[in-house]
Amino acid sequence: MLKPSLIFFILPIFGCCQTIPKVLVMAFDGMRWDYITPEMTPFIWSIAQKGVFAVQGITNQMFTVTAPNFYSISTGLHEENHGIVGNTFYDPHFNDYFDYWNFSGNSTLARGSRDGRWYSGEPIWQTNENAGGGRRSGAMRWPACDASINNISMTNCMPFDGYLPFVEWQLEIDQLVTWFTQPNNPINLGLYYNPQPDHMEHGGDIYRTDVTDTIRDLDLLTSYMFDQLKAKNLSDSINIILTADHGHANVNRAYNMLTIDDIFGNIDDVIVSQLSFFPRTDRNVTTDMIYQRALSYRDKNPKFDVYLKSEIPDDWHYRDNDRIGDVVLIEKLGYKITTNASLHSYTHAVFGQHGYSKFYPEMRPFFVATGPAFKSNFTVATPDLIDSVDLYPLMAHLLNISAPKVDGQLCRIDFILRQSACAEPTKTPDPTGPTGSPSPTGSPSPTNSPGSSALHLSNVVVAVSLLLVHFILQ
Ligand SMILES: [Zn+2]
Repeated sequence: MLKPSLIFFILPIFGCCQTIPKVLVMAFDGMRWDYITPEMTPFIWSIAQKGVFAVQGITNQMFTVTAPNFYSISTGLHEENHGIVGNTFYDPHFNDYFDYWNFSGNSTLARGSRDGRWYSGEPIWQTNENAGGGRRSGAMRWPACDASINNISMTNCMPFDGYLPFVEWQLEIDQLVTWFTQPNNPINLGLYYNPQPDHMEHGGDIYRTDVTDTIRDLDLLTSYMFDQLKAKNLSDSINIILTADHGHANVNRAYNMLTIDDIFGNIDDVIVSQLSFFPRTDRNVTTDMIYQRALSYRDKNPKFDVYLKSEIPDDWHYRDNDRIGDVVLIEKLGYKITTNASLHSYTHAVFGQHGYSKFYPEMRPFFVATGPAFKSNFTVATPDLIDSVDLYPLMAHLLNISAPKVDGQLCRIDFILRQSACAEPTKTPDPTGPTGSPSPTGSPSPTNSPGSSALHLSNVVVAVSLLLVHFILQ
């Protein structure tokens, strides 16, 4: 007969080694890095002090709008490689428009953005489930979780459903935690998205009280999430990343608005792919014509930069995709380019905006990480040390799974981990950062060394335990 004391000895051994790593990513749209303060976000601040804290934020993708940046976090690919080059854009091969937020109000376009044909790459929720072994993913409002990417529809996806009150946010957290703890098919990867404070920031001065109050609510929600995880005994075993897609900056409507119609003389001469433009060749318009018109207007109104697509620097990673138009406009910070038809929709004298170059500090997202895999009391001193595409290989490593080679590099971000994830000795972060680093090639296989050694160890422990059971039962 098996002695009770031995049962207690054996069960934890089996329990420990069959556990699938758990990861939770919580992302707040438009949460700028410097919103994390002891006064405004006391709970997140406390987590940041205990774990990993990027004190000046991290580097995001060149076109700092929502859909491209979230899809870069999800896939580890730069915008030019995953193909979501804007919240709205034109595809010359499809001869069709992508409209992520359905700005056009056309229901068929909104459904169109859920069509997998727009998306390249493998999002982390698929990479996790593809690894098998009972791994499952859950996405709460996470951008593109409702798209049939690679012809796969996600099981646990609650798509974006507008701007909900705090009590609904708590219910979202409850559902996410339930996904982690449910007896049948629990998830081991959770992705949570909240559309605030971005929505409030667009609705007026980003420094007004309404925005500050919303940020405080997000801090309370984060605290609520941690409380729920603690109540389910998940606190010690789950690795948590808190981050965002971009920052925000104020625009003065009276002085800082520009229109596509004015820049190009006639908007009908261009095909608009958000802030890149194709010439309307059916109207005998050429690339050079629209380039010269934009240059001429810019010389009189130096509120934006103009680039031929071919001139775009490598380290923008925003060039080599057919969906990026021949002429690209880059707004200077605090200016907004729109259409004459849309001008009326900007009703606030001052309002928040993003989409500017990633090189503006105001466009950087925040980043905090905590959990057993992360260093304690560790600050990431400069934003160039982490690129948001590195989060995908980081997540794959935390999940102990193999992942496709992507633009993101685990060995660039592994300095925030307790145990180096790379075969080479722990590197000292390069102070010059990732700028100019080559894309997809050279990315390491993210999980080989620690993942395989962990598996080997678990196999040995299971084998020893089986032997023990064998002898005890005899
Ligand atoms: Zn956003």
